[in-house]
Amino acid sequence: MRLADLSGFAFDLDGCVWTGAVLLPGAADLLAALRRRGKRAVFLTNNSRELPESVARKLCDLGVEASPREVLTALDLVGGEIARRFGRTEVLVLGVEEMTRALKAHGHRLVPLERWRDARVVAVGNDPAFDYAKLKAASQAVARGAHFVTVNLDPTLPLEKGEFDPGAGALAEAVAVASGVRPLVIGKPRPLIFRTALERLGCRPREAAMIGDSLRSDIRGGRAAGMFTVWVVPPGAKRQGGIRPHLRVASLTELHALLEEGVSIRRRRQFPSTRG
Ligand SMILES: [Mg+2]
Repeated sequence: MRLADLSGFAFDLDGCVWTGAVLLPGAADLLAALRRRGKRAVFLTNNSRELPESVARKLCDLGVEASPREVLTALDLVGGEIARRFGRTEVLVLGVEEMTRALKAHGHRLVPLERWRDARVVAVGNDPAFDYAKLKAASQAVARGAHFVTVNLDPTLPLEKGEFDPGAGALAEAVAVASGVRPLVIGKPRPLIFRTALERLGCRPREAAMIGDSLRSDIRGGRAAGMFTVWVVPPGAKRQGGIRPHLRVASLTELHALLEEGVSIRRRRQFPSTRG
């Protein structure tokens, strides 16, 4: 098989297409080459602070053509998944303004902190205003039986120069520890976002690639969804036991070269695969 035989390409964003506000080498050229070949692309992010419109705008500003329909943020999926599982309901939110907007858009009613007893669902995203009062309200609601949902369990949100913000996972774990309950996770590596990506790509799993820098979220989730997986190896990365990408590249520049050369990616594979 050659890379060009695939018809859909799903890209992780942070650490793959960009870091912070800087596009990574090869990203713009690879995406342009895929478009020229008539391939479809989607961008998958566990981001819990931004909705697809603003992510697509940022991609375009950095020189990568993208429409909001081609961007999937875990935040965008939260409201729909809560509605599907629990109906339109009362939600206590720990998150930014975009998260409350995304939940309201799906018909949910937001419960203020002091009325935490009325919450049927507690939803956690990244929340720079997270504090003890929010932790107390959320964990008590969950301990008393409210469903517990988090956008993702990512420990950090990478910034430039090796700095990071605490991720939604750090906040969700605080609620989990205090309440004694594990959350339902919406984003990568859980299946929902990959299933939705394949729908947007309009192709079967074996016709699609998942490209990302996280073995735990991009590669594990992509493999579980049945996609061809490409690990963009982060600087200083160590292999994580048991999670094997089909292909590993140092950068999107290298992936672009493999696409143009038309070499067999089966032979370029550096880790054995369990899939045919
Ligand atoms: Mg990443």
